[in-house]
Amino acid sequence: MECRLDGQVALVTGASSGLGEAIARLYAEAGAKVVVNYHSGAERAEELVRSIESAGGQAVAVGGDVSDEGAVDRLFARAVDAYGAVDILVANSGLQKDSAFAEMSLTDWKTVLDVNLTGQFLCARAAVRRFRLQGDRGVSRAIGKILCMSSVHETIPWAGHANYAASKGGISLLMRSLAQEVAGERIRVNALAPGAIRTPINEKATSGEAGERLLKLIPYGRVGDPVDVARAALFLASDMADYLVGATLTVDGGMTLYPGFRDNG
Ligand code: NAD
Repeated sequence: MECRLDGQVALVTGASSGLGEAIARLYAEAGAKVVVNYHSGAERAEELVRSIESAGGQAVAVGGDVSDEGAVDRLFARAVDAYGAVDILVANSGLQKDSAFAEMSLTDWKTVLDVNLTGQFLCARAAVRRFRLQGDRGVSRAIGKILCMSSVHETIPWAGHANYAASKGGISLLMRSLAQEVAGERIRVNALAPGAIRTPINEKATSGEAGERLLKLIPYGRVGDPVDVARAALFLASDMADYLVGATLTVDGGMTLYPGFRDNG
């Protein structure tokens, strides 16, 4: 049995770049119709749709700010207009506004919490409502699946990034509380916790001298590629992971294994 998503509709937020783009691409290859949500990258989203279509897949680009309640409702309505259903949500959108704690502005605190945490709440809520309305479409063992994009920083504290770490720590309990609440309806909710993956969000941290320092934190000895996370996302959304409920799959080359202790015997 392969990880396939044939006949299913997947809505991926923040899919115009980085991890979202890689997930959208792989889901389309696995047979899903993909709703490519973007916030600012309309052109890249359209480009991705064309590239998926030229490979024989189906996708549509839909703009929308995930931190805006009305925009999220419109995003789901457009997805249903396009493909008649939503079977999988990947709540992936996220951003960083880094600064030392004492200098952190309330605006930067709120922006990160609004997009990274409230955005996932709004999208997951819309998905649960949609799954209940649809019932069992016979395309998967679960009637709906939600993947929350967390980070290794749901467990690793991160000086200079308190807003980001707080948002991902929040995702951990949001995801597990929701998973517990809706599992009886055969809705599966899980999360991914990537380590350092080469995407626009951390261009500075993964190149040059900073990149060399970063490698010391990764036992497996390389920075991750978006497709490393996309493969895990495909597994979690597929029936191969049918008994995974409320799990966080860490995709980090061992970053959470306390590598500092390796040479400290
Ligand atoms: P990225 O900057 O390439 O992608 C982030 C996406 O979120 C972009 O497409 C952006 O347009 C979208 N976005 C931002 N604000 C939005 C809004 N208000 N509404 C809708 N979309 C919005 O970075 P990425 O690395 O691909 O990040 C994707 C997710 O993965 C984020 O949640 C991030 O926290 C998480 N993550 C990334 C890494 C990594 O190393 N790259 C590690 C752990 C977790």
